[in-house]
Amino acid sequence: MTQQVEIELTEILREAREQARFLGELGVETVDLPATGIVQAEAPLTKSNQSPVRGATPSSKAVPPQPLAPREALFEGLAPATPLFPRATEALEDIWRDIGDCTRCGLCEGRTQVVNTHGNHSARLMFIGEAPGADEDAQGKPFVGRAGQLLTKMIEAMGMKREEIIIGNVNRCRPPGNRQPTLEEAAICRPFLFREIAVIQPEVIVVMGNTALRNLLEVREGITRVRGKFQDFRGIKVMPTFHPAYLLRDPSKKKETWEDLKMVRDYLQTNPPKAKS
Ligand code: URA
Repeated sequence: MTQQVEIELTEILREAREQARFLGELGVETVDLPATGIVQAEAPLTKSNQSPVRGATPSSKAVPPQPLAPREALFEGLAPATPLFPRATEALEDIWRDIGDCTRCGLCEGRTQVVNTHGNHSARLMFIGEAPGADEDAQGKPFVGRAGQLLTKMIEAMGMKREEIIIGNVNRCRPPGNRQPTLEEAAICRPFLFREIAVIQPEVIVVMGNTALRNLLEVREGITRVRGKFQDFRGIKVMPTFHPAYLLRDPSKKKETWEDLKMVRDYLQTNPPKAKS
C-alpha cells in the first residue's frame, strides 16, 4: 500500500468513526450501508439518547437493519429555524440572572460554577465552543486554559483584541472528565446561548468544533467537511472551524484554521459595521 493510500484510508476511517459517534448520540444503533452491511454506532446508549429514532433498530433484536432515517426525521420535534433573529429587548445580565445557580441538567452536580458568555456585549464577532474545562470551571470565564490561550493568539493574529470580541459555549457547566455534553444537556443549555446571540447580534459567529457546529446549525456533517465555508444562522454569517483543543492535539490543522479565520477577518474588514437596531 502506498503512503498516499494509507493516509487516505486513515482519513476515511477517522471520518467514519466521527459519523458513527454522532449517529450513536442521536440514538441510532445500526446503519444499513450498501456495501458493508451494518455499522455499530460508537457511543453507548445513555439515558439521554434512548429516545427512538425512525430507522434505528435495537441491536439485541433480530430485526433486519432499517435504512438511515432521513434528515427531516432525525430532527423531528426540533423547533423550525426562524429566518431572522428579532433584536432582543433584554440585556445579557437578564439572561444570566435567569440562568442563576442553574440545576436544569445533571452537569450542575460536578461543576464549581456556571461559566457564562464573556466579552464585548456589542461585539461584531462571537466565538462559540463546547463547554468549560477545568480552568474555566475554576475561574468562571470561557477559554482561559491552554485552548483559550491558543484562541487568544488566533484572535490577535486576526488583528483583533480579545476585549473586542465575545466568547461563549454551548454548555455552561464543566462536564465530568471534560467529556462531550450529551444531546440532552446541550439542548437544555442552548436556548440561553440563542437568547444571548439575539442580544449581541454579532455579524459573524465562529463555531469551533462539532458540538458548537451541530448545536447552532442543523447539520450532520462533521467539522472537517463544513469548515472554511460560511454558513447562515438566522441571517448571521457562521464560520465553522476546528476547536483550539483539537489544534493542541493536532497542530497540523492550524493551517486550515488560519485560512478559515482569515476569511472572517477579511469579511469584517471589507464590510462596515452594521448598525444594531
Ligand atoms: N473548551 C471549550 O469548548 N470551552 C471552553 O471554555 C474551554 C475549553
